[in-house]
Amino acid sequence: MRLRFAPSPTGRLHVGNARTALFNWLLARGHGGTFILRIEDTDAERSTPASEAGILDDLRWLGLDWDEGPDIGGPHGPYRQSERLALYAAHADRLLATGQAYYCFCTAEELERDRARQLAHQLPTKYAGRCRQLLPDDAQRRRAAGEPAAIRFKVPHGREVVFDDRVRGRVAWHTDVIGDFVLVRSEGRPAYNFAVVVDDGLMGVTDVIRGEDHVSNTPRQLLLYEALGYVPPRFAHLALVMGPDHAPLSKRHGATSVGEFRARGYLPEALRNYLALVGWSPGHDDELLPVDELARRFSVDAVSKSAGVFDVAKLDWMNRTYMKQADPARLGALMTPHLRDAGYLTAPDEEGAAFLASLTPMVAGAVDRLEEAPARLRFLFVFDAAAALAREDVAAEFGHGDARGVVAALAEALETAGPLTDRDAYRALVARVKEASGQKGRALFHPIRVALTGETGGPELDLAAPAIDRGAALAPSSGLVPIRSCRHRARAFASALARG
Ligand code: GLU
Repeated sequence: MRLRFAPSPTGRLHVGNARTALFNWLLARGHGGTFILRIEDTDAERSTPASEAGILDDLRWLGLDWDEGPDIGGPHGPYRQSERLALYAAHADRLLATGQAYYCFCTAEELERDRARQLAHQLPTKYAGRCRQLLPDDAQRRRAAGEPAAIRFKVPHGREVVFDDRVRGRVAWHTDVIGDFVLVRSEGRPAYNFAVVVDDGLMGVTDVIRGEDHVSNTPRQLLLYEALGYVPPRFAHLALVMGPDHAPLSKRHGATSVGEFRARGYLPEALRNYLALVGWSPGHDDELLPVDELARRFSVDAVSKSAGVFDVAKLDWMNRTYMKQADPARLGALMTPHLRDAGYLTAPDEEGAAFLASLTPMVAGAVDRLEEAPARLRFLFVFDAAAALAREDVAAEFGHGDARGVVAALAEALETAGPLTDRDAYRALVARVKEASGQKGRALFHPIRVALTGETGGPELDLAAPAIDRGAALAPSSGLVPIRSCRHRARAFASALARG
């Protein structure tokens, strides 16, 4: 089984295309097949090397590897269409020689006039066939005289092209509605329908999974397979990925490219697992599955005919779940760029990285995406007692003496306590504050939280307080902005309260 993903490098990788790549990849990996990456860059104006590099990078990030491709080569290369022009020319010559293709000298103006006439008579718009009857000798003469010419395929009249789409079922097209289409443009560039058949034919592709926007191309491609004597692949056309309003997923629904989801802090395994479920189900109500299990179970024939809706809430849930399962060191590293953007660190050294990894239990399970990590961990890096007290919600906490008493007791207890390096140390301290202040429950914990973090909500205190003191012990070389100790915080808070 040989499958391929054939993106045009004209922008970033859209999640809909990423799903197409994933389905091809799952099928290949589940069947010991070969997965080919081919770059369809014949549109020289719109294709860019940066887009190609970005697509490769996003595919790698998603964990989709390929066996043949532009970067690694393979037995059927090159894998960039712009490097295969001689192959297209040779195939066009074959079709010209057998009379299955012909030169067309029609100018853009003539073609536009034909089109306008067909529209005016409510006829299907297709090539009117003016050059189909030209004698080959006449065509050669005009070409020799320098007249620009495209090459068109001579579509056989009066036939029906039928194929069994593995998703959509039987599809039939009458050739009479297909005009003689262009194979090679006058400036020498191959048209998509032609290049794709030459490539899939030469690369021995056995199965094509692609977007349903290509269904109407398939009859043209099948005619070309026949004309060139190549065995056509089996086709599966996927319904497009929709937004919640059932319109094709686009910018106005929010993020659409893999790069955007990546930047927001989705884990690759979460996005990959989620995309596998857009239009396909592994059965048994299973949703969270390791990728090799997805590959084992994936079946094109079980892909839904109706459009899949991209459900961000479900993706968020998956991401949360995968974050909880992720290795802390890895999660800490993935969190780093977000914390850097927030100004909380520069380049963490080993000690800094280990500290970040130790923070992940306060993040995983509490946020949907890693972009939310800085807000969750802000209390570590930003502490200003006076600014906190100036806030109404914080000030309201200290309208009565009990809360002030708790902070005073906290500050005093911390003067003699060692650093709160772990949960036990923190609990022992709280016991002392409880006894000294005579408060318990919310009346005890709320003032402690506010005094240590400057915030009225946040992670569990028995995680947060030790994190503060472990952070305060970091060397400046750790690459994080300085973190104030619990002792410093309680003292600052007590004196701000005394001033206020
Ligand atoms: N380059 C085409 C696209 O991105 C590929 C279509 C195909 O798979 O044949 O839509």
